[in-house]
Amino acid sequence: MDRRTLLAALAALPTLSPLADAAGLIQSLKPSAAIPVLFLGHGSPMNAIEDNPWRRAWQAMGTEILARAERPQLILCISAHWLTRGDWQITAMAKPKTIHDFGGFPQALFDQEYPAPGAPAVAQHLAQELKSPANGGPLGLDRSEWGLDHGTWSVLKPMFPKADIPVLQLSMDYSRPPAEHYALARQLREWRQRGVLIVGSGNVVHNLRRTQRGAAPNDAYDWAKEFDHWVQEQIKQGQLDALQNFQTLGAVASQSHPSYEHYLPLLYAAGAARSSEMPRFFNLGFQSGSISMRSVLWG
Ligand code: ZN
Repeated sequence: MDRRTLLAALAALPTLSPLADAAGLIQSLKPSAAIPVLFLGHGSPMNAIEDNPWRRAWQAMGTEILARAERPQLILCISAHWLTRGDWQITAMAKPKTIHDFGGFPQALFDQEYPAPGAPAVAQHLAQELKSPANGGPLGLDRSEWGLDHGTWSVLKPMFPKADIPVLQLSMDYSRPPAEHYALARQLREWRQRGVLIVGSGNVVHNLRRTQRGAAPNDAYDWAKEFDHWVQEQIKQGQLDALQNFQTLGAVASQSHPSYEHYLPLLYAAGAARSSEMPRFFNLGFQSGSISMRSVLWG
C-alpha cells in the first residue's frame, strides 16, 4: 500500500484519531459529532491529589466522556489562572510544561506532572480562525511561556489520567469586559463538531479572603448561596446570555468575586453550549464556605 492509499484508508476510518506527524502530534482535527462542553469548579489545588467527592466526580466524568461514541481529539481548557492583557493567546508548544502556580502546599503537589502533548499545528489553525472580540484580528500564539497551569491539570489529571489527549490552553485577556469573553466563547462552539472538548475551569463563587477552614459543603455564606443559585437558574432556564451580566447583581456579585477571573471560564463553557442543550449539574456544594464547586456538563 503506498502512502496516499494508506492515508486515504486511515481518513476513512471514523474511529481513528486524527492524523499525526512523526512526533505523534496531531496536525488537524476531523469532523465529529458534537463533543460535550464542561465547566468545572476546581477549588483548592489539593483536590488534584486528595481522594474526596469532588475529585471522584471528575474521575467519573472522565470515564463517562471516554465511554461515549465520539472520543475528544483535543482538549481546549480556559483556566482562571492564565490571564493576559492586550490579547488572547493559545498555547502552541509541542510539550506544554506542568506549571505549579501556587505556594504553601505539600511537596506531593509540586511533584505532580501532566505530560499531555500539545498540538502546535491545531493551535495555529485555531488562532487564525478565531477573531479577537477586541480588534477582530487573530489570537496570539504562545510557543514557550505558558503550559498547563493547575486550573487545567488539577482537573484533567483525575479525568484523563493517561494524558494521551492533546491539551491547549486559551488565555483570557483580563483587560477586556465579560461580554467580549462570551463573544469569543460563541466562536468556540463549532469546534465541538471538530472533536474539541472545551473545558472552562474556575469557580461559580470564589472569595479566598472569606474562606472558613473545615466548613461543610452545604455551609456557605448567604451571598455565596445567592449568587450560586442565580447562576444555576440562568443555566437551568437556558438564559446563557444573561451570565455575562453577572455584575448587575451588585454586592452579591462583588462578594462572590472580589476579582472575577474564576467566574470568566464559566462564560467560555456557557458560550460554547447551546441554550437548547440540557445542562447537568454536579459537584454541588462549597469548599471552605466561599468557593462554589458547582460544575456543569452540556451535551
Ligand atoms: Zn483557582
